[in-house]
Amino acid sequence: MSLAEQRSIDRTQMKVSDEIAIQITNMNKWYGEFHVLRDINLTVHRGERIVIAGPSGSGKSTMIRCINRLEEHQQGKIIVDGTELSSDLKNVDKIRSEVGMCFQHFNLFPHLTILENCTLAPMWVRKTPKKEAEEIAMHFLEKVKIPEQAGKYPGQLSGGQQQRVAIARSLCMKPRIMLFDEPTSALDPEMIKEVLDTMIELAEEGMTMLCVTHEMGFARQVANRVIFMDQGQIVEQNEPEEFFNNPKSERTKLFLSQIL
Ligand code: ADP
Ligand code: MG
Repeated sequence: MSLAEQRSIDRTQMKVSDEIAIQITNMNKWYGEFHVLRDINLTVHRGERIVIAGPSGSGKSTMIRCINRLEEHQQGKIIVDGTELSSDLKNVDKIRSEVGMCFQHFNLFPHLTILENCTLAPMWVRKTPKKEAEEIAMHFLEKVKIPEQAGKYPGQLSGGQQQRVAIARSLCMKPRIMLFDEPTSALDPEMIKEVLDTMIELAEEGMTMLCVTHEMGFARQVANRVIFMDQGQIVEQNEPEEFFNNPKSERTKLFLSQIL
């Protein structure tokens, strides 16, 4: 029985709103001469859970990093929560405070405690008073089920626990959108489930999520849409059932035959 079945997830209960959270139009990006993203068009509604799949090097990370401007695009438009991403730094700050991101390597500050990792951005970016920031941090550490680790340092935690701290740390900024870039790829198998469980809970609470992941069980159970990328393009997208059972393009079929 898959983990999602154990938790009896009902995807149809996860509501998608008409409101647009992210709109990407004719977006192109180059690294020097290399045309890494080609004519990306993507509309994400609030409450959607999108899984992005595709072979290594297909541009998945670059695409989601463009959404909070960790990378710059050169052509086309990206609008996040009604704000267009441009070279205007004010816009970038606004987007970054509304879009949380979790990476494969958790990127926690090793010299700060778990609690301090979680209060840093709220205190310095949002100017939240320390006591309040700590209360918020404890709330989210409880949510990811590790409040008892608050006083420890990242190096004292398992990989799965560190990733859950990274998720809690993002949530402390009260993001409206969460981006995940292979959050379970660096974890031992027994720790993958605890991180996916945390992500499933977020989905159930209505978080808008874009997840690059190879966890196709998660995609089937949680995503309302799977996007397949290859060579810098969105080749195909569909609801999971259709995507897995009836892939349209040869590239998608080949990819699925290799991973399933
Ligand atoms: P994925 O996440 O799907 O594996 P990436 O978005 O990381 O793909 O990379 C897409 C392509 O862009 C790859 O060919 C990669 O080598 C290249 N690339 C990624 N980052 C850079 C960079 N900073 N400079 C130049 N090329 C890069
Ligand atoms: Mg990647």
